[in-house]
Amino acid sequence: MNPVAPVHRSLASHSLAARRCGHLASCSGSDSISRGGVHHPHPVTVDLSGASPPTQETQTQGSRIGLEGKFVLPPHRVEQLKDEYGMTADELITALITPASTMARPPISSFSVGAVGIGGSGALYVGCNLEFAHLPLYNSVHAEQFLLVNALHHGEESIQKLAISAAPCGHCRQFFSELDCADSIKFLFFGGSYSLGQLLPMRFKPSDLLDTSTVPLLLKPQDNRVAFTEGSLAQLRAWEHEGRGDFVKAAKEALDECRRSYAPYSGCPAGAAIVAGEGVYAGGYIESAAYNPSMLPLQSAIIDAVIDGMPCYSNVKAAVLVELEGGAVRHHEAMGVVLSAIAPQAAFHTLTVQRM
Ligand SMILES: [Zn+2]
Repeated sequence: MNPVAPVHRSLASHSLAARRCGHLASCSGSDSISRGGVHHPHPVTVDLSGASPPTQETQTQGSRIGLEGKFVLPPHRVEQLKDEYGMTADELITALITPASTMARPPISSFSVGAVGIGGSGALYVGCNLEFAHLPLYNSVHAEQFLLVNALHHGEESIQKLAISAAPCGHCRQFFSELDCADSIKFLFFGGSYSLGQLLPMRFKPSDLLDTSTVPLLLKPQDNRVAFTEGSLAQLRAWEHEGRGDFVKAAKEALDECRRSYAPYSGCPAGAAIVAGEGVYAGGYIESAAYNPSMLPLQSAIIDAVIDGMPCYSNVKAAVLVELEGGAVRHHEAMGVVLSAIAPQAAFHTLTVQRM
């Protein structure tokens, strides 16, 4: 798979944040996706023994370069920017932290975080934090997680490095432990460059629970062999009869995400899709060896929508969850709670799959 070729849709559609910004003003109440002010952490003194340490000055150049609302830049564009501004890759991703931060949506904390990374293909991926008003904090998405899901949705199989506006929390350090390339990634923040081994030594990792010589880790292609149950196929036929092509499309995309989802610990793959405006956005469940930093399927689908410029949750018309029938891990109840808070107008359907 071409790492830069999106799994679901064209790259051109992933550059609409400017349009989103224009629509934000029209959103109101708890349904809106609020964006907070950008808070920069206080500079701290760090060991600059890492190569090409990014500086505060480099970071401020981000406002000059800008991302123009894009969450992904292909490798050739990354090379163009490096040449144009005379920057190394480390300096470029550090310079883009500030524009990445402006795309965050933190209505609870107003603390915006930006993350900018380079994948194994050379493509650049952006992440920002998402919070959900009136819901428990564990529903939040951190910028580093957003970046990882963004890369996953574009078929990227490894991350070389990422620059972050704040020190990565323990949650994200654990989440990145799921990657096959975990030991080679560089984290750039506060002027230093660090390995995951430095940031989270003696960590609990996939090999503590899995035979990692045979199980593909996060970002590597997954192949969960599942198919719709008879009951779900009947529901699909009913939607087709009713002319609900959008529901059918959402169900099929959620099934694809379920098949691609990363659930090696529970064996319970899942995927979700939301219908918002004229678009269908989908994402898959991602587990962690430590369980708690897992990414829920709805959040993964919301990341997909944010990348495409979804202005606010009041646009969401429907959501479809696809999960394993009788699985030890189920998302139906939890996803219903989140949807009822952020998009109460949305129709919510759960379809089930069984192993083939
Ligand atoms: Zn974090």
